[in-house]
Amino acid sequence: MLTIALSKGRILDETLPLLAQAGIVPKEHPEQSRKLIIETEQGHVRLLIVRASDVPTYVEQGAADLGVAGKDVLLEYGGQLYSPLDLNIARCKLMTAGVPGKPLPAGRLKVATKYVNLTRRYYAELGRQVEIIKLYGSMELAPLVGLADRIVDVVDTGNTLRANGLEPMELIRPISAQLVVNQASMKMQHAPIDALIERLRLAVAKTQENACP
Ligand code: AMP
Repeated sequence: MLTIALSKGRILDETLPLLAQAGIVPKEHPEQSRKLIIETEQGHVRLLIVRASDVPTYVEQGAADLGVAGKDVLLEYGGQLYSPLDLNIARCKLMTAGVPGKPLPAGRLKVATKYVNLTRRYYAELGRQVEIIKLYGSMELAPLVGLADRIVDVVDTGNTLRANGLEPMELIRPISAQLVVNQASMKMQHAPIDALIERLRLAVAKTQENACP
């Protein structure tokens, strides 16, 4: 049995077509089902539906053999996971953002984010002292009400930022969803996992060919 951890939303929507090309089709649509364990037409594969930020935990602990998670989530988590394949989906950018034209304070910059580790690392590399304020959502609000001078968040079109009077500023890194594998599973179930990785690799390559004729 192979168990794959996925999160609802963009990752699920963009992973299901790749899984289908790799021969894995859920028995019911995970987005329409309330079930958290979804069987597939291939009796030996099942899907676990978990929160995006919990995918690395399920995989590292071995509750799932494989998972799909954004690079942002994986870098924030750290941990010991194999990451053999960039699925090149759910692409976005990890960026700083703030109110355009607003002067920064002379002292420590206040930065609101849910990516505490990534943000600490980014500003440490720049040699800047910052105070990090951990938030769990609606980061865009923080600079508008004086809670922070900057936010660090993932940005796709930038529409959410602009709708709130903010502007994307520095690019920290590009983000896309990665396939991750539990280290023990990779050893114990090497043949089926390796075969699945190769089928997914082909599916990703085919999707890219179609995207860039
Ligand atoms: P945007 O298109 O920039 O307005 O993105 C809207 C919101 O969706 C942002 O605030 C992000 O939190 C979220 N978002 C965009 N792209 C992704 C992604 N690839 N993965 C996770 N969240 C995303």
